[in-house]
Amino acid sequence: MNVPMLDLKAQYALIGDEIEAAVRVVLASQQFILGPEVRELERELAEYCSCQEAVGCASGSDALLLALMACGVGPGDEVVTTPYSFFATVGSIVRLGAKPVFVDINPATFCMDGDLLDGAITPRTKAIIPIHLYGQCADMEVISDAARAHNVAIIEDAAQAIGARCDGKMAGSIGLVGCFSFYPSKNLGGAGDGGLMTTNDSEIAARLRKLRAHGAEKKYYHDLVGLNSRLDSLQAAILRVKFRHLDQWTRKRRENAARYRDLFGATGLVDAEAVTLPVEQRDQFHVYNQFVIRARDRDRLKRYMQEKGIGTEIYYPVPLHLQRCFAEMGHREGQFPESERAAKESLAIPIYPELTERAQEYVVDTIAAFYSGS
Ligand SMILES: *Cc1c(COP(=O)(O)O)cnc(C)c1O
Repeated sequence: MNVPMLDLKAQYALIGDEIEAAVRVVLASQQFILGPEVRELERELAEYCSCQEAVGCASGSDALLLALMACGVGPGDEVVTTPYSFFATVGSIVRLGAKPVFVDINPATFCMDGDLLDGAITPRTKAIIPIHLYGQCADMEVISDAARAHNVAIIEDAAQAIGARCDGKMAGSIGLVGCFSFYPSKNLGGAGDGGLMTTNDSEIAARLRKLRAHGAEKKYYHDLVGLNSRLDSLQAAILRVKFRHLDQWTRKRRENAARYRDLFGATGLVDAEAVTLPVEQRDQFHVYNQFVIRARDRDRLKRYMQEKGIGTEIYYPVPLHLQRCFAEMGHREGQFPESERAAKESLAIPIYPELTERAQEYVVDTIAAFYSGS
């Protein structure tokens, strides 16, 4: 049996007709940049995320960059985030000449440990970027309190968390700006790159709209130096079709997660401490962009599963503070032990909505067979 990490073809087989019809409408209009499809998508997603405004852009990475630019982050400023994320989170900070200040993660959730913030915030701190990693929000109550006490902005990296909730609040509506990605493997994925920023601050929204279009509200009249980071009409049209299915896909991801818990529970692997399952915290609504376990002898397990036809992924093998491009910052191993441990132990197993019950049984049986033989 073959179980890929993600099966976008299975999704396309179900909604291909709807998508092709939407694409044909855009092609007939020959309007490709921004336009009505983007405006409608922005309206729909602002409402979905309980935000007044949403602004489309070219990628999730650009969403983070534009959000920091809208907050005026530049050289000499510090931005607090964790070293356990996709590179874009920290890349956006460094590209603006600002200094990333890392705090470690909470090992139970892989997200920012809010209790460490007080020791990381300085008078130079301009913003905090918590990452809602794998589809579960960071501990936003603690993080919001710290941000308020020190008067710094929160930019939520919600790239993996569209539809997630924390204390009943939607991901992307809690901080000053929420940043989303439509990279194909995200819960709402396009046919290429795309991103979106949400906010309840109309001034910030206006600045984001300008910044994504070279700082001009009126073409050729530039108030700010921005970038070219627009969302395509074709992407928006495709995303609007997929958005109609998002809640159903999220429900399936959550059902799959619950089934994994049952299946793993029956193996005894958790009690034997061979495998640790992801924790869904109280007051959280996890959307399971990834189902990430910790596994003893992780690298050998990954190879074994590969041999048995099962796709898995390591998010993220090298914590950000130890990346070669940041060598000059002088970080060293041992500085952020939980991030480093997560990098060594974590393994994402298939969780996509179309995953069958039989495939999940095969995944868990295969993992059980690995540990019984080793
Ligand atoms: C995917 C992702 C991004 C970047 O999104 P792109 O659209 O690929 O640029 C940023 N942060 C996190 C946590 C992500 O998972």
